[in-house]
Amino acid sequence: MASVIRKLRSKLSGSKKSTAPAPEWPPSAAWPLQDTFPQPTMNQQLHSPLFRKLSPEPRILIYQVVLGDPERYLHICMNEPDGRGARSVAHFRRIDMDSPFPTWQHKCFGEERVVVPGKYSAFKEHPRTETDDKLLALLLTCRLIYSEALEILYRDNVFHFRGGLGLPAFRGSIPKLQWTTIRHLHISTAYTPFYRGDPLLIEHHPPDTLPNWNKICEQLKELPSLQSLRFDIMARGREINYPFDKYKTDLLMSILRPLKDIHAHIFEVELNVEIPNEVWKLVRPVNFTTVLKERPFNEEVFRANTLHDATDVPVPAT
Ligand SMILES: [Zn+2]
Repeated sequence: MASVIRKLRSKLSGSKKSTAPAPEWPPSAAWPLQDTFPQPTMNQQLHSPLFRKLSPEPRILIYQVVLGDPERYLHICMNEPDGRGARSVAHFRRIDMDSPFPTWQHKCFGEERVVVPGKYSAFKEHPRTETDDKLLALLLTCRLIYSEALEILYRDNVFHFRGGLGLPAFRGSIPKLQWTTIRHLHISTAYTPFYRGDPLLIEHHPPDTLPNWNKICEQLKELPSLQSLRFDIMARGREINYPFDKYKTDLLMSILRPLKDIHAHIFEVELNVEIPNEVWKLVRPVNFTTVLKERPFNEEVFRANTLHDATDVPVPAT
C-alpha cells in the first residue's frame, strides 16, 4: 500500500524520482517519508468509507485539498517563549490577500499601531500566534492517513518566512526529512547591514531581524527538490543615517552572492532597487531571475525599519 501511495503521490505532484537523503535512524516522526523504514502496525480502517469505498487517487485529492493551498502562504511566525515549553514557531494561513505591501507587513501577523489622539501612538507587537485551524487534525486521525498524507503537508504548501529568524527556528523544530520535503518557499525581508538599537528608533523596528543571511542561504541549499523559491527584499531601507548609495555595491553583493549556489526550479529575487551592471559582473552566473519592484511601505503601522545582518558589509562610520 505504501509504495502504491508513494508512486501515486509522485505522479500527482509531477515530481521526479525522490532525491530524499538517507533515512534517519532511529526513525523520527517523519517515518512515512522513509522508503526503507519498516511500517509500524496500522489498521486497514475498512470500517471507514474513506478506505472502504475510495481508491488511493481520490483519497490523495482529498488530502491535497485539506492540507495544502498553493494560493495562500502558510506563514511561519516566531513566538516568544511562554514558559510552558511551547514551540518557538507557529503557522498561520494567509488572510491578507490584497496587501500591496512587502509580504512581511501582512495583517496576518497581527501587528498594529495604537493611536491615542493627542497623547501618543505606539507600535503594538503580536508576541504569540495562536492558530486554531486544525490543519493537522486529519493527519492525527490514524497512522494510515498519516502515512499517506504527511508528505502532502510539506509538498503542497508555500512556506512563508519573514525576516529570517523564523527559517532556522522552523527548520530546527521538525525532522530533517520533513524539512527537505518542502517544495515551495518564500522569504520576505528588509535587508540592511546593521542595527543600532537606537532607542529613538525603537518603535520603528520591524517584526523580525536577520540573524545571518549566509546561514539562511546555507540552509536553503539543503532543500533538494525546491519547485519554487521567491524573495521580496527591501534592499534600500528607510534608515536616515545609512548612506545607501555609498554602500550599494557591497550591500547588493552581500545579498546576492550567498544565493548563487541555491537551486530551485523557479527561483525569483524581487528587489526594490535596480542591480547595477558592476554588481552583475561580479555575481554572475546565477541561478535566479530578478524582479525590480517598489512596494509601498505600510507607514501607518511600521513607519520605518531596521533589520540587520550582512557580516561582510561594513557598518558606516558615524
Ligand atoms: Zn499574510
